[in-house]
Amino acid sequence: MVLNLLDIERHGTRALGPGLRYVIWTQGCPFNCPKCITPEGRPIVSAKLADTVQLANDIIANKTIEGITISGGEPFLQATSVAELLKTVKEHRPKLNIIIFTGFLKENLLSDDAQSILSMTDLLIDGPYMEALNDGVGLRGSSNQRLHFLTDRLLPYKMELLTGKRQIEITINNHHSDAIGIPLNQNVL
Ligand code: SF4
Repeated sequence: MVLNLLDIERHGTRALGPGLRYVIWTQGCPFNCPKCITPEGRPIVSAKLADTVQLANDIIANKTIEGITISGGEPFLQATSVAELLKTVKEHRPKLNIIIFTGFLKENLLSDDAQSILSMTDLLIDGPYMEALNDGVGLRGSSNQRLHFLTDRLLPYKMELLTGKRQIEITINNHHSDAIGIPLNQNVL
């Protein structure tokens, strides 16, 4: 099965949830949030096509990570592939915790594949990004987005995830730099 990706961070980051985390950004989003946080992830076009088994094996082999964060783009636009990926990873690394960002509201994630993803997810952060509600804290772009703790594994981090200071990590490869993390409200910089 294929997953259409904007990018991955396979060495891990600490800017998108507790501990060192493998990050997957899926390509393509049906929403149109003004001042979108990841505009390059919005076009629904073929980008980096990854085989879900190979991607799962790369995650499974990484013994330094404590969790996975999946963002976008919109991960649930490729729910079948994301479910397949998580199923394979969880079979081999059940202790990895899973955080997923979505522009959908949780109550609308009703398909079998979406439900399968939710059954393997520890924290779901849902809802559209609203620039006016970007208060600069916590692991969410704006305060309308809800944190659903679907298991108790990340509950010890609840306050930090809701109100903690955000981190931005800059990675530099081959003279190219990337910023990883939740950006601040551009209007208050
Ligand atoms: S859901 Fe995320 S990627 Fe999609 S338009 Fe909104 S901010 Fe951008």
